[in-house]
Amino acid sequence: MEFAFLSLTEIKEKITSWETTSKEVYEYFLKQIEKNDEHIMAFHHINSDIKEFDSDSLLAGMPLAVKDIFCETWVPTTCASNMLKNFVPPYDATIIENLKQAGMTSIGKVSMDEYAMGSTSESSALKIPVNPWGIGRIPGGSSGGSAAVVAAGMVPAALGTDTGGSIRQPASMCGVVGFKPSYGRNSRYGVVAMASSLDCPGTLTHSVRDAGLLYDIMNGYDQREATSLPGKDQIDPKIWETKDLKWVRIWVPKEYFEAWLDAGVREQIEQAIEQMKDLGAEVKEVSLPMTQYAIATYYIIMPAEVSTNLARYDGIRYGHKSDAPYESMDEMLQNNRTEGFGDEAQRRCVLGSYVLSAGYYDAYYKKATQIRTLIIEDFNKAFEEVDMIVSPVSPSVAWKMGEKMDDPVKMYLSDAYTIPGSLAGLPGISVPCGFAESEDAEKEMLPVGLQILAPQLHEEKLLEVAHVYEQARWFREEAQEKRK
Ligand code: GLN
Repeated sequence: MEFAFLSLTEIKEKITSWETTSKEVYEYFLKQIEKNDEHIMAFHHINSDIKEFDSDSLLAGMPLAVKDIFCETWVPTTCASNMLKNFVPPYDATIIENLKQAGMTSIGKVSMDEYAMGSTSESSALKIPVNPWGIGRIPGGSSGGSAAVVAAGMVPAALGTDTGGSIRQPASMCGVVGFKPSYGRNSRYGVVAMASSLDCPGTLTHSVRDAGLLYDIMNGYDQREATSLPGKDQIDPKIWETKDLKWVRIWVPKEYFEAWLDAGVREQIEQAIEQMKDLGAEVKEVSLPMTQYAIATYYIIMPAEVSTNLARYDGIRYGHKSDAPYESMDEMLQNNRTEGFGDEAQRRCVLGSYVLSAGYYDAYYKKATQIRTLIIEDFNKAFEEVDMIVSPVSPSVAWKMGEKMDDPVKMYLSDAYTIPGSLAGLPGISVPCGFAESEDAEKEMLPVGLQILAPQLHEEKLLEVAHVYEQARWFREEAQEKRK
């Protein structure tokens, strides 16, 4: 039996109706990984032990790929960095614990940008994954491995993290669903920190419904995590029956449709908005004026937090220890950190230390936190009038590997549409909405994602809107045709 490209919900139905068993499903996906990973280059570690599965549990036999940033007991967790190459945690992240309790088996750890810093997964010090939809193209990042393995049918779902777009953007580039809940809903405990006021664990799946299924299991208050939100959110299963958007008011912010948005992407997004109108949604074009400051703000706050979080990797308490000779403590630290961290991590540590330094703190860091508040107010004002905000995820489709590696600013700008929602801690989703031609010589047809953002804590409504759109769009069927 074939399970590649089926959703978790569809596989579960086959198990419940005795058409297959959890074990057969798990073995199938192990073979898929064995067959395809030499092309996709995503797995750092594969869990090939086949245990007995407790078929009564919700996720029995469902193999999830885990971004190599989540701690899992006795499973190497490298963060795609030489710094953590030999790190084997003795504990599970809360999210892993919650999923394991629901019967999930982690089938392995997948590659990413080093410490989740990047938009292409090319900053990995281990494997650099590729996009299954194009030749020599990036899968997006930083959760590029997670998106690529779902898109290639090697697993039905994967875990990722989103700090400034790292779930939504690779989901968009690989044609899968990427969901990041509100900041604080999914515990960060046991997830290696990048920028603590922004990091959000979430999922990459074939369907919105699967995103809801996993979110139900993953979310909830965690006393081990200081920013964890109280309570537990439960998605009402009735939302999967909604068929129209007559009850929804949507804003399309004009700042997200600037000239540098690729024509093909713009066309797909405009079509998606038309389709939402046909489904009954009331759509207005408006302005979110603070959007223009989001990237600058993010690239001050994020590196400030990165430099603080990465300070602990000194090779003494944590991380890689260099064999190079040294004469002073400073020299030893320098050796450990220079060998352990790649270029992007070093760049951000330097930038972060600079904006936090005594002479520049007020001018940069403090200012950025003030602007962050204005960005949040911009969204709050918008959500007094509408229910959702809809936009592109990324200004272009997946580009060629290496294309932006020597121009970090160009790379940073590609996150212009995902970063504002991250700064405001909003729940966001990327739903595949079509294919557009790449604006390079190859002119390949590549997936495009539609971003939907909701007010904080409105995950249920967000998933409902995304699900209605997804059902009307039939993207999975189109993708299946294209794969042939
Ligand atoms: N691409 C963004 C960055 O490099 C976002 C990364 C992320 O969300 N982890 O910071």
